[in-house]
Amino acid sequence: MLMPIGILGGTFDPIHIGHLRIALDLRDALQLDHVRLLPCAVPPHRGQPVASMEMRSLMVVQSLDGEPGLVLDDRESDRDGPSYTVDTLTELRAEFPDQALCLILGTDGFAGLDRWNRWEQILDLAHIIVAKRPGAELPTAGPVAELLQTKRLHDRAGLTAQPNGGILVTDVTQLDVSASKIRELLASGHSARYLVPENALHLIDRYRLYQ
Ligand code: ATP
Repeated sequence: MLMPIGILGGTFDPIHIGHLRIALDLRDALQLDHVRLLPCAVPPHRGQPVASMEMRSLMVVQSLDGEPGLVLDDRESDRDGPSYTVDTLTELRAEFPDQALCLILGTDGFAGLDRWNRWEQILDLAHIIVAKRPGAELPTAGPVAELLQTKRLHDRAGLTAQPNGGILVTDVTQLDVSASKIRELLASGHSARYLVPENALHLIDRYRLYQ
């Protein structure tokens, strides 16, 4: 079977070292074919992003800077209305019919999965990889905890044995960094250097994005 594809969706408002490091850690540890970083145009479950879709995509692509196997996927910029992950996965499944798809979520995102549109369909389209994130715990009760109990995979082999349907919880470099903390720093006139890749920082300075 072909190598699995990683999909890291997010607001990327702005992209930061937490996003990039989990993409790279997972690419290498799980031997992913590539990881697609997929900015969300209109997030359905949270307030609207501060920076435009165009600017957030530009920050992503410039931060990747030719790193092999990490690519921008800005398909949601063409979509009207809220960006539902299940629709994106349906499109990707049609484009990559023979490869396992792996939706990458931090522990916080995974814990809230049951609030997503048609969330029960996600495992029919992809695996889920949960990247442990500082300050967030795996759910221990409720529908997402039950799903984890029945679908949990114990190693990478499960990702290639089938194209979708499993949940793999993984250790990644623990970086207690979030876009909201970065926006707060910038709004209060502080530097976000070393938290945000230099190329994205140049764009933030140039367009005064979060001030
Ligand atoms: P915000 O603070 O605005 O909510 P964020 O830092 O959580 O933003 P998002 O773009 O919303 O960033 O995150 C996209 C995905 O990346 C989510 O699944 C999230 O859990 C994960 N993620 C973001 N930062 C980290 C991190 N430091 N460690 C592990 N996962 C992360």
